[in-house]
Amino acid sequence: MPKIYFIDVTNRDGVQTANLGLSKLEKTIINIYLNEMGIFQSEFGFPTTRHESAYLQANLELAAIGVLQPIRLSGWLRAIVSDVETAFRFVPDIRHLNLSISTSAQMISGKFREEKKREDIVEMMIDAVEAAKALGTESIGVNAEDASRTDMDFLIEFASAAKEHGAQRFRYCDTLGYDDPFTIYETVKTLAENVGIPIEVHCHGDLGMAVANSVAGAKGAIDGGQDAYINTTLNGMGERAGNADLVATILAVTKSKGFASRYRLGKRINLKKAWKISKFASYAFGVPVPINQPGVGANAFAHSSGIHADGVLKDPENYELYDLAELGRGKLEFVETGREICFGEYSGISGFRHIMGKMAITFEDSAKAREILELVRYANVEAQKPLVEDELLFIAAYPQIAKKLLTLSPLE
Ligand SMILES: [Zn+2]
Repeated sequence: MPKIYFIDVTNRDGVQTANLGLSKLEKTIINIYLNEMGIFQSEFGFPTTRHESAYLQANLELAAIGVLQPIRLSGWLRAIVSDVETAFRFVPDIRHLNLSISTSAQMISGKFREEKKREDIVEMMIDAVEAAKALGTESIGVNAEDASRTDMDFLIEFASAAKEHGAQRFRYCDTLGYDDPFTIYETVKTLAENVGIPIEVHCHGDLGMAVANSVAGAKGAIDGGQDAYINTTLNGMGERAGNADLVATILAVTKSKGFASRYRLGKRINLKKAWKISKFASYAFGVPVPINQPGVGANAFAHSSGIHADGVLKDPENYELYDLAELGRGKLEFVETGREICFGEYSGISGFRHIMGKMAITFEDSAKAREILELVRYANVEAQKPLVEDELLFIAAYPQIAKKLLTLSPLE
């Protein structure tokens, strides 16, 4: 039976959220956490965007030395030959790509202003796929932007051409969140049956159905005989109403009535990392996790009404579908309520030694301590908030890679 995989797109689609963003170090920590969690792939950024190059190359180095293994790091590009060439010029080690182009009549006429016809769209995509292969890409996903508003016949033609030219996956983008679980199931199943290619489902929440649509779309791919790759973001961050939330979607495909023990994951997911990754994303984006968020919301395991509290005390399964420990919750957390020494872009060596010492990191060599201190200051310039322990530990462990992450060299 085909399987379900997760492709997290926080570092590409999540960072497109208006008014918000992530530092390159925060993006790197997210890649590390996604890897620890067992996520198949992280769409880690934009290889044609100049200020991403050093970050992307540094993360590929982390993959080469085994830190970011086995997760696959993939870049997002427009399906245009010149973008593919630019990507390989800026990020020579990139090996996995998703190439995106609009396929709906609305976008073909509304974005390309009648200058392009459907045949042109297919041709541009084929040329981009061929260029990517020629430059050494190991895996290619082809994205149909606005697929949910695209005619079925054209989608089949487009996806078939992508497959024929060597794409390994087809991304069905419900760009505007227009689908419902019934329509996406039927459409994705038809695509899987007619094209015979593994399908990614990329769902947005404009009508409040991103997770439900992702689950239904994945079922459509599997029932049509193909592997399903669900696109998610941390805490559902993303443009407008956001994307399918990673933790909620994992819960849905592993715990729901129709999925639990019927559909299988392609990779084991360590759900115990859910609490940590969701909290970090919330801190990094500066957006609180909603109180009623599935699994990781403050109230996800809170009970106050008499009948519920009594029921849970007798047996948690009376009112809880899954255990809080499964999500890595339940540990006491240290909250500083007294004097606090925190670190910023203008901090000095003594505060730095104090903070690192609390994590049992000491520096024998004062030159080394000053080097790490300087890098931490730079990281603060970008983040504009105190770094979390894992960020500090990362800089101390991989100063050379941190240096690359923090390097922004504007074009001359
Ligand atoms: Zn999107």
